[in-house]
Amino acid sequence: MKTAWGDCLSDIMSVAIDGPSGAGKSTAARTAAAALGFAYIDTGAMYRAVGLAVRRAGKDTADPEEVAACLPGIHLALRYLSGVQHVFLGDEDVSEAIRTPEASLAASDVGRVPAVRTFLLGAQRELALRQSSVLDGRDIGTVVLPDARVKIFLTASAEERADRRCRELRAKGLDESYNNVLADIRRRDEQDANRPIAPLRPADDSIPLDSTGMSPHEVAAEIVRLVRLAAAAERPQSNEIGEVI
Ligand code: C5P
Repeated sequence: MKTAWGDCLSDIMSVAIDGPSGAGKSTAARTAAAALGFAYIDTGAMYRAVGLAVRRAGKDTADPEEVAACLPGIHLALRYLSGVQHVFLGDEDVSEAIRTPEASLAASDVGRVPAVRTFLLGAQRELALRQSSVLDGRDIGTVVLPDARVKIFLTASAEERADRRCRELRAKGLDESYNNVLADIRRRDEQDANRPIAPLRPADDSIPLDSTGMSPHEVAAEIVRLVRLAAAAERPQSNEIGEVI
């Protein structure tokens, strides 16, 4: 396997980044993956697409039976266009449509349905087996890839996460009050941490990283540093690691 690191990685390496909504996982994971020459797999986007499909079918995202009944009709695909992950439902690129506050809550709802988790688990593992990847989500280090080489649990205070989300929404011309965004984040944290299946929690062997007060670039650089450390620890004979960020 040839990566941005030259030949120093001869096998496939997975990096798991878990943590609550708005901790900066996607930006950090995408930037770190690009710097490492790895694929970036945004598993939250897969849950969002399922949530969107269920809503569009006019079904209740909070009803596990209605959600499970929709699954056979959902044709979800991840495609990489110019290196950027796009999510498709059938032929429609829904990468933007899945980013609304309604789609966030729908994703959190469907993420509690065991049939949805089984449906997406196989696809996520298969993608990670194909190439060295950075995956972000809630259960990557605990359930999807318990043997991931590097596991990071990324957090930030709820207030800072709400602040970041408001700025993101505003940049897209979507106006949502800070208090509503903070309430949504707290509700999703609660749902994600307390669901009986694949709850949000750090893997025992994960590295905690609190991004409060850090820029996205600083978070990505720290992830790259941790991956380089892990790879160097496994290959002490290699001195060929180049500058990656
Ligand atoms: O990461 P993102 O905010 O896009 O995820 C949307 C929702 O999808 C989360 O709130 C969570 O409920 C669910 N999710 C999950 N497991 C993952 C990724 C996301 O349950 N691996």
